[in-house]
Amino acid sequence: MLMQIGGDFRTARRFAILAITLLICSLSTSFSQPVHAVESPYKAVEVCDYVEQLEFNGTLANQSVHWQTSLGPRVPGTNASETFRNSVDENLTLWDVSMHEYTVDNLTFTNIEAVLEPANAENNTPRVVLVAHYDTRNVAERDSDENRTNEPIVGANDGASGAAALLELARIIPPMELQYEVELLFTDAEDQNYTPHRFFGAEKWAEHQTQHDINRTAAFIVLDMIGDADLQLTHIWPGNGALWSTISPLAEALGMVENKTDCNGGIGVKIFDKNTSIGVYDDHVPALNIGIRAIDLIDIRFGPGAKAFEGYWHTHEDTPDKVSAESLETVGRLVELGLRSGAWLTHNSSQEEAPEPQNSSENETVVDEEIEAQSYPALMLIASLSIGTLLLITAFLRGIIRKNT
Ligand SMILES: [Zn+2]
Repeated sequence: MLMQIGGDFRTARRFAILAITLLICSLSTSFSQPVHAVESPYKAVEVCDYVEQLEFNGTLANQSVHWQTSLGPRVPGTNASETFRNSVDENLTLWDVSMHEYTVDNLTFTNIEAVLEPANAENNTPRVVLVAHYDTRNVAERDSDENRTNEPIVGANDGASGAAALLELARIIPPMELQYEVELLFTDAEDQNYTPHRFFGAEKWAEHQTQHDINRTAAFIVLDMIGDADLQLTHIWPGNGALWSTISPLAEALGMVENKTDCNGGIGVKIFDKNTSIGVYDDHVPALNIGIRAIDLIDIRFGPGAKAFEGYWHTHEDTPDKVSAESLETVGRLVELGLRSGAWLTHNSSQEEAPEPQNSSENETVVDEEIEAQSYPALMLIASLSIGTLLLITAFLRGIIRKNT
């Protein structure tokens, strides 16, 4: 609790008011927290039935990261950006691939949409949208070399990793013969230096959705910065609570949750920590804003032991050697398990969560603020301390009253 206490207090009554305020603040903070501890609506065994089928290949995804970075920075309007698009168009032969070009404030950018419908598609066939930005940042404002902060980054993790995961998913999804539609959305212009920050590609996608499109969208899942060799996934807000509640059982099944038994009987390690929540504004926000269930799978703590929004993020250190095939495979398989099990079509709508207001930071890609300290144990501690303080002050006031009477 960072409430600053200043000035002189003439009466102890002010302390009492302050203590009560502190208590109310700490309690209301705990109520306003996003959903962390929702019970999973799935039985682990149901998810486990699909684990042996998983095919996502992290080595292939990592090869794509190397290929994408070899093109150079994929800033909108560059040859590298165009080469990437052409490659998607040529390789996703089983998908219906379309390019969507827009111009906003002299910036021209192009989203790639790849759609795969089930054979018996109907008007109301549900769809799952998997999203990654393929552009890379046009500046490196966090780089330690001041002479290079104006140069675009190669974006191995911030750009190539998510796009690589979508490309590998594009390879393995068609044989799954899913009974619902999958759209792979490669957004452009997510990471361009622009004030206030804009998610140009995702905004344009959201702008063009009809109410019918919105209604049949079961999930909108962003994959961003998923390749860090030191992979640490957390709950991210804003995000849809019901959709987040589907992630824990999938992660547990794959041994990504500390001390939880996975489907093979192994004990999980801490890769996904649902009790830590970090605020990140990303391509999921425009979808949330039009009423689509959306979440962001992102590891914003890029590099060994890095804090949020630090490490290699937005520097020239964001290179392929910092990305691991294993991390790509871990996240890829989590998504694949969700697809195969149908996890996102059946989630409990009673756990819907309204998007948080978009007011924390308008000029950043991400909210430059971490709220890890507000996990439940910390909140309990704050509440206990506040109650303790209140009791002490009450006792103190009674002492004063007794002295004065
Ligand atoms: Zn970025």
